[in-house]
Amino acid sequence: MRTQVGIVGAGPAGLVLAHLLHLRDIDSVVLEARTREHVEHRVRAGVLEQGTVDLLVELGVGDRMLREGLVHEGIELQFEGERHRIDFPSLTGGRTITVYGQQEVVKDLIAARLATGRPLLFEVADVSLVDIESETPAIRFVHEGAPTELRCDFVAGCDGYHGVCRDAIPASVLSEFSRDYPFGWLGILAEAPPSNDELIYAYHERGFALHSMRSPSVTRLYLQCRPDEDLDEWPDERIWEELDRRLDLPGWTLNQGEIVEKGVTGMRSYVVEPMQFGRLFLAGDAAHIVPPTGAKGLNLAVADVRVLADALTAWYTANDASRLERYSAEVLRRVWRAEHFSWWMTSMLHRLEGGDAFDAKLQLAQLAYVTSSPRAAASLAENYVGLEQVGG
Ligand SMILES: Cc1cc2nc3c(=O)[nH]c(=O)nc-3n(C[C@H](O)[C@H](O)[C@H](O)COP(=O)(O)OP(=O)(O)OC[C@H]3O[C@@H](n4cnc5c(N)ncnc54)[C@H](O)[C@@H]3O)c2cc1C
Repeated sequence: MRTQVGIVGAGPAGLVLAHLLHLRDIDSVVLEARTREHVEHRVRAGVLEQGTVDLLVELGVGDRMLREGLVHEGIELQFEGERHRIDFPSLTGGRTITVYGQQEVVKDLIAARLATGRPLLFEVADVSLVDIESETPAIRFVHEGAPTELRCDFVAGCDGYHGVCRDAIPASVLSEFSRDYPFGWLGILAEAPPSNDELIYAYHERGFALHSMRSPSVTRLYLQCRPDEDLDEWPDERIWEELDRRLDLPGWTLNQGEIVEKGVTGMRSYVVEPMQFGRLFLAGDAAHIVPPTGAKGLNLAVADVRVLADALTAWYTANDASRLERYSAEVLRRVWRAEHFSWWMTSMLHRLEGGDAFDAKLQLAQLAYVTSSPRAAASLAENYVGLEQVGG
């Protein structure tokens, strides 16, 4: 098999890249380890920045998102028994976010890919990369029992944090930067209408809670917990009781419904540099992870491949390698901005293990500042909706 760009992973990064390349007449093959059913039902992120929404529309895969996605013009921060709204349009020159589940984005992208007739292979196994320093790198894999070698001009490693592409780069070349947080999120999806029009980020002495949603009839809720929290200790009533306590506000009620999905997610910040080696380019979670507090993971993955697609286009259409050479340096500026924002939101809103009354006072002072100073609020807002330009 031969293609121009071999793409490992059919998550948001791999699928958006494949579609961008298709629209520029660049061939690609997408290889995905899991089944189509699995990737289309994997519940993960749900907040799309304005730039992500604009790109999906530009790609022609945004129709359902525009119909079913929920446009939000702000978020609420709750602490000390009060809610404070951060209004995005007035603080960011009219920008908003859209709530639309990652699995829905993935469904739309898979449908668009299949409609192009270009290859997207599910359930590939034993994926490995060879010759990535040569001009014809290859991806070896097994599909439907047949060992196959796919020769490419370039390989895009879009295979997430647990993928194999990052490990194909010699360890001596890579620098890793990481921070593990001593807490996680217990997340549920409930068949209940959202109890508020916007997301509520609640700082509480018992721990952080988040009220979010996926549709007018499905609520997504999170509780700060231990990273290794045992879900067996969390029967449904205990989850609702704890959410009620942490989100409590006089006169407000949290709608309850059947819990259809429950899981614990650890929190981590992680970046690997550089994001390229030879003819291999990493994008999305394969190269960086953020804690979900800033809602940046999916958006960063999409921002990476937008740059990569432009760089590959410059190479194919103008024989210009300079954009590819600069790829890692260019995307890492946005990555580190998002890493800082995600760490900052996480540190401000979570009960800090081992923290004392002084830490709590600092967090409350920061929350009071962010919700009372228009300049501080604008900083949060512009990062949340996504910065168009990240300097450096
Ligand atoms: C449980 C969970 C909850 C999350 N919640 C949020 C949230 O609320 N908000 C937020 O902003 N972000 C959240 N994120 C992060 C966000 O979902 C990711 O940042 C986003 O999925 C990144 O997209 P990606 O395409 O880079 O990677 P992924 O979506 O991980 O896609 C990688 C793909 O590669 C495939 N793959 C892996 N290994 C191989 C291989 N060897 N060969 C072929 N294919 C392979 C995987 O099956 C997967 O389909 C969450 C992540 C997780 C894990």
